[in-house]
Amino acid sequence: MKKIALHWQIIIGLILGIIWALLSSQLGWSEFTINWIAPFGTIFINLLKLIAVPLVLFSIINGVANIGDPSSLGRMGGKTLLAYLLTTVLAVTVGLVLVNLIKPGKLVDEDSRIDNRIGYEVWAASQNLQIKDGIHYLQDPEFMDRAKRITDFSKGELNDAAINDKMTTANQAEESGPLQPLVDMVPENFFQALGDNGLMLQVIFFALFFGISLLFIPSEKSAPITKAVDSIMEIFLKMVDIVMRAAPFFVFALLAGVVGKMAGNDVGKVLEIFKGLSWYSLTVVIGLGLMIFVIYPLIFKIFVRAVSYFGFFRAMGPAQMLAFSTSSSAATLPVTMECVEDNLGVDKKITSFVLPIGATVNMDGTCLYQAVAVVFLAQLHMIDLTIGQQLTIVLTATLASIGSAAVPSAGLVMLIIVLQSVGLNPAWIGIILPVDRILDMMRTVVNVTGDATVSSVIAKGEGLFNYNEKKDPDKAFDVEEN
Ligand code: ASP
Repeated sequence: MKKIALHWQIIIGLILGIIWALLSSQLGWSEFTINWIAPFGTIFINLLKLIAVPLVLFSIINGVANIGDPSSLGRMGGKTLLAYLLTTVLAVTVGLVLVNLIKPGKLVDEDSRIDNRIGYEVWAASQNLQIKDGIHYLQDPEFMDRAKRITDFSKGELNDAAINDKMTTANQAEESGPLQPLVDMVPENFFQALGDNGLMLQVIFFALFFGISLLFIPSEKSAPITKAVDSIMEIFLKMVDIVMRAAPFFVFALLAGVVGKMAGNDVGKVLEIFKGLSWYSLTVVIGLGLMIFVIYPLIFKIFVRAVSYFGFFRAMGPAQMLAFSTSSSAATLPVTMECVEDNLGVDKKITSFVLPIGATVNMDGTCLYQAVAVVFLAQLHMIDLTIGQQLTIVLTATLASIGSAAVPSAGLVMLIIVLQSVGLNPAWIGIILPVDRILDMMRTVVNVTGDATVSSVIAKGEGLFNYNEKKDPDKAFDVEEN
């Protein structure tokens, strides 16, 4: 019997996981699922993250050492950052255009939107914020009674523990000075940076610093280190192969847990959650779909050419499936590297440098979603954002996506900053929170695909792209190899 390809096995695991979660919530087995199946999903993510942090470290050192001379490193670094920035701005723009065309927030009934608007005005007054669109419902006595009711509601909303928790994190980011992000990139203690997943930029900084210094010492001294780093990388990549063999089962457990927790003991709840936010979700999904199925393939066609439309998806399938199931570009990074290197044929010199940086700073899906979310929330509250405010969204969503850690829900936390930048109430993230996990899964797929696209374009430009159409994508995860 012909073996089923790994990405199909993962898809089957994913679908079975969802079916299991729905069935078990229907039959009242949620507790069993959460106690006995979901932990394997957590183990899977832990295993991948365990590999990801040292892989970023060694891979960047290896990448820098392989590039050879500092001037080509500078050229490639510049190109990489520029390409990442361009795709990010493109993605925010796609999000903004879509949300302004579809207007998902305006599809909600007028009455609730007026309530929302009053709530917003009460909040804006309490924050001494100027209302930019010049409309004031509160000045109309007719709305006074309504306003009283809404005030309490808004306070209740703000007190929601989950939201408050997320807000503290974002406020910390907000309160610091303009150069704080730069300061945060430089670790004072390297081991501390390694110990915390949120500090990936610090690990990247150290790796670049170490790698560049390595280039400046005599080659008889640097050679053993370069060789050792190369071998260590091989070991980590082999660890990925081994973990990936069990991926279909792990993905089953992961999805059973995630969907199971959403549904609890009532399947109807999942549907309910989506009904209210369906237009918003649909706008995000259309935007993400455009990126994956139209824009990236187009970029590929124009700049890389070599790969066919389906060839690209076949090559990236395992990484995309994993991004969807784990909601974390960092956890997916080891697999992204294997797919891009082995299946797309991008030289290791490029992948080891471009991809780890991309996983951390390039999040096209996240910024697209942030743009849609902010404008949707404004529409829902009858607030017309000015062109200036929309441009602010482009800027802050770009920066917020760069600053987002590559872990689940990071984009949602950073959304608070984007909301604040245009004078909207950050507590509104509570409104879109219920559907956030599923959208997070989808935007992570875009994030990972964007990294792969950019690294292929850079590789092509450097003459380091060798695609082989006939290659079996599963070979990338062959444990028996060597
Ligand atoms: N989960 C996303 C990632 O890891 C980040 C986010 O949008 O929340 O790429």
